This record gives sequence, C-alpha cells and structure tokens, in this order.
Amino acid sequence: MTYLLDKIKKYIKYLLYNVKNVFSLNLNEIIESEFENAFKILDELGMIEYIKREYKIDYKKPELLILKDNPTFFGGYSKFENKIIFSKKSIEREINDQLKSLGYKGIKGIEYLNKSYNTILLYPFYINDRSIRKSIAEAFILLIMFHEIWHSIDDSILDKLEKDSNIKDRDYLLTILNNPNNRELRASAFEVVMYYYYLVNNLYKDGKGHITAYTNILACRNYIEKIDILEKNGYTNKSVPYDLGFCYGNTTVATYKSSLKENIYKIIDDIIHLDKEKAIDVIKLCGDNFDKLLYG
Ligand SMILES: [Zn+2]
Repeated sequence: MTYLLDKIKKYIKYLLYNVKNVFSLNLNEIIESEFENAFKILDELGMIEYIKREYKIDYKKPELLILKDNPTFFGGYSKFENKIIFSKKSIEREINDQLKSLGYKGIKGIEYLNKSYNTILLYPFYINDRSIRKSIAEAFILLIMFHEIWHSIDDSILDKLEKDSNIKDRDYLLTILNNPNNRELRASAFEVVMYYYYLVNNLYKDGKGHITAYTNILACRNYIEKIDILEKNGYTNKSVPYDLGFCYGNTTVATYKSSLKENIYKIIDDIIHLDKEKAIDVIKLCGDNFDKLLYG
C-alpha cells in the first residue's frame, strides 16, 4: 500500500512539474539556442563552406525573428529579409498536441514525435532532463530550424543559377528549383538527415535512434503506393512533398548508418539534385531491399 501511495505521489509530482512547465518554458531562449546549435553543427561539418565553394553561391547567414503568434506556420524563411521566422504560439500549441498524444506518463530515455501529415513517421528524441515538454520543444524546433536553413541555401543556389549561366547542371537545377513542391521536399529531406546526425552524435545511446529510420522506411514504402493511387485519381495534396522529403531523409539515414558524417558532402550533393521522381525511386528501392538494408 505504501508502495502504491509512493508511486501515486511520484506520479502527481511528475504531472505538476510538467504542468508548471507549460507556463515556465522559455521558448525564446530555446529557439535562440537551437538557432546557434544548428549553425554550429553545420560549421563543424564545413557544410556551408562546401556548398559555397562547390556551387559558387553567395550565402549570408539569415537572422532570426521570433513572432508571438502567426497561426499559419511554425517556422518560415523570408528570402526578402533573409530571416528565419518562428511563431511561438503555433509551436506551443504543437508541443501541447505532441504531449497529449504521448500521454502523461513517466517517460525516460527515448520517445517519438509524429510530425508527418499523411503517414505515420516517427521522430526519436531524448528526454534529456526532467522536463519532457522542454525535450519536445528542443527536438521540434531543431527540426524546423534545419528545414528553414535549407530554404535559405536553396534560395542562394537559385539566385546564383539565375545570374550565372556557367554553373554545372544549370538547366536541370533551375527546373527542379522553380517547382515549389521540390523545395519543400528538399528542405524536409535535409531536416531529417541533419536531425538524425545530431541525435546520433550527441544523444545516441541505445540504438533505438537508428531503428526508427528503418521502421519509417516500411511506412514510406506503403505511402508511395498510396501516392500512385492518389495521383491517378487526379488528387493533389499539399503535404505530399513534405512526407516524401521525410521519407527520403529516412532512407539516407538507414543507408549510410554510422558513416553519415564521412559521406555528408555526397549526401548534400544528392539533396541539391533531388526532385520528386528521384525521391520516389530511392524510397521504392529502399523499401524493396529492406532486408539487405537492415542486415547489410
Ligand atoms: Zn518549407
């Protein structure tokens, strides 16, 4: 009986702690620190330098703007102002939804966000201190951060392509980049790759991080079948490019496994040349060779 009471007391304490955190979470601070964090990771990999050199772009690091509330988005990139913009209230609402879907349980270690629209794709994240709410916020904000940073890179590439006719694969890249759906697909692919890179290198402890990428590939293989049917019926869906990008990112993570870092420039080149058809081909191939991927 005492044992049970103790358990209940602990549980109530846990609930109170997280409810308290609804109000005490400093989103400004988290968004600012994930902005620095994301660029620090890219710097460590020499990634921006590589893209600047290889694609001759004139990249300027965007500024960060945090809005109180814009219900139409979580985060965005404004090419005109070269700003990455976040909407605090939208993020707060999303964190609440994620928390609700996880359930108020005493969670430790790894948990999963579901951030896709059409299919069930999971994102592992670590509960890295006593507040699950803060852990969700950090994971969610870092994902958006990488996504928006890629938009800023894509826009720099597009600028260069428009001005300079000597760039390699110019016509091909221009065709891809002038399709807004491809741009969401690429940003989402980059988001997943970079997020896993961070997760695996900084928090990876028990292998569950990578396993999620494999689980997602099976969901993605089924999703591709659904797209064929949807498109045959003349159906278009705004969220398809995001989900395809997430799926492509997962195939990259599952293919390269622990050698993600050594191959990161090749991975980036592939994302720069990525469009919908390529993404679908890669996802199909990975899904069809799932056993080889898992055990190879
Ligand atoms: Zn986007």
